[in-house]
Amino acid sequence: MNAQTRPLFDVPLRTQLFIDGRWCMPETRRRLPVVNPSTEDTIVEVEVGGPADVDCAVRAASRAFRAWKQTSGAQRAGFLRAIARGVEAQGEHLAALQSLNNGKPITESRIDVGDVIATFDYYADLADTLDAPEAEIAIPSGDHRAVIRREPTGVVALIVPWNFPMVTTAWKLAPALAAGCTVVLKPSEFTPLPELELAAIIEQAGLPPGVFNVVTGTGAEVGAALTTHPLVSKVSFTGSTAVGEQVMKAAAQSIKGVSLELGGKSSIVVFADADLDLAVDLVTGGAFFNAGQMCSATSRVLVERPLAEALIARLADRVARTVVGDPFASGVQMGPLTNRAQYERVQRFIARGKADGASLVVQGEAPEGAGYFVQPTMFVDLPTDSAIWREEIFGPVLCVRSFDTEDDAIATANDTEFGLVATVVTRDGPRGQRVAGALQAGVVWINSPQLIFPQTSWGGYKKSSIGRELGPFGLAAFQEVKQILSAADPV
Ligand code: NDP
Repeated sequence: MNAQTRPLFDVPLRTQLFIDGRWCMPETRRRLPVVNPSTEDTIVEVEVGGPADVDCAVRAASRAFRAWKQTSGAQRAGFLRAIARGVEAQGEHLAALQSLNNGKPITESRIDVGDVIATFDYYADLADTLDAPEAEIAIPSGDHRAVIRREPTGVVALIVPWNFPMVTTAWKLAPALAAGCTVVLKPSEFTPLPELELAAIIEQAGLPPGVFNVVTGTGAEVGAALTTHPLVSKVSFTGSTAVGEQVMKAAAQSIKGVSLELGGKSSIVVFADADLDLAVDLVTGGAFFNAGQMCSATSRVLVERPLAEALIARLADRVARTVVGDPFASGVQMGPLTNRAQYERVQRFIARGKADGASLVVQGEAPEGAGYFVQPTMFVDLPTDSAIWREEIFGPVLCVRSFDTEDDAIATANDTEFGLVATVVTRDGPRGQRVAGALQAGVVWINSPQLIFPQTSWGGYKKSSIGRELGPFGLAAFQEVKQILSAADPV
């Protein structure tokens, strides 16, 4: 028994679809292996849904919507809190499953589980507020009374990627249920196990049948069927920009609403007055957390010239000493990439970067043999037109460039088709705020690691997003707005 599988051996893993309150087989029996990225062994085989199963799940969600939308906010809050407590009770098991299936160090998986709990609790609190009496809107007419009502959108399709299983799901699922929507979830074909376990917790929380459904399978079949199904009112998608474009086109055929959380190519701007230790921590955290498989990876490092030599030397040392290995082993800072395709893609980027004329390339160590382990890699002074500088890599690769003025730094950081996040490191408070204001990004951290609180917001500018998740924005994404204007004195 190896370290990666031990925590899960005594618990049978869920492998079926969850439709209308029941675990079930797909209409046509097919199975997909789910691979442990640390060993390349198959963990288990999962049933693969198809269009007929999507139809079944969407119809169940549509039937369930009639009663679920009539429940009070307080009732839905009760279910959300029950899910949060269920996740809490299963926390270690879920974290282990996350590390087994995704490959991230167990310490990172525990952070993910905490995020899921916080998200369900936050949207439970927001659901409670939905029972407040409708506020009258001030209008310039004494003869009329206007109120704005928010109603659930309907049946929503949630499609999520493999880099933060459960977390990207919770950010959609908690507000969708809070709003009174019913849901069909499609997890990534690479990491369905945490989502299936979450489904078991949701089942135990006692949600009425059909309110929450999971159809495992591929994007080409399950994802495509969801984005075109006539009874789906809205698609909330997190994934690559290329697939986001396809989702939008498919949804356009029936004018469905879409929310998209897509790729990024984000910068961390380090000024010469920065605390060097803090800068090193923030750069490496922004580039290597989750092995760099983050839409929010700040993989472009812009450093003010007087600090460049010192920062590059410290980063080179940190990159070389990064401990890559078994996600369950203590002291490991980076696990494998999550799947073979991503591993090969990152290796291709590293090869291209080496050919593109960087003035310095530093690589750390990674275990040899089985597993999708990649060496953390740093490039210095790549040309700004090189692919590795411009394209999302989604792996542990950072590129450093120097800048001379604040305006230069802002222009270089904004010179990308994406606009998800940015980080600014400086001891000059007003400058931090000024640069944050000038950066085209949906989230800017100043002297802070990438903390994300469910009370705030998530999403970006340009090709990174359409809409926002988290905070009240996340709830609004699953609500319709209805105006009711009545004559003040009914006849
Ligand atoms: P993909 O876009 O490949 O896949 C995302 C999801 O979409 C998967 O469940 C996939 O299914 C599904 N899918 C694939 N094709 C279709 C289709 N035609 N119609 C509907 N659904 C489809 O992304 P990855 O899973 O590779 O995730 C990495 C990407 O996600 C990165 O670009 C990253 O930046 C982005 N991301 C963005 C975040 C944000 O908040 N902005 C957060 C996290 C990731 P399957 O793979 O199972 O076949």
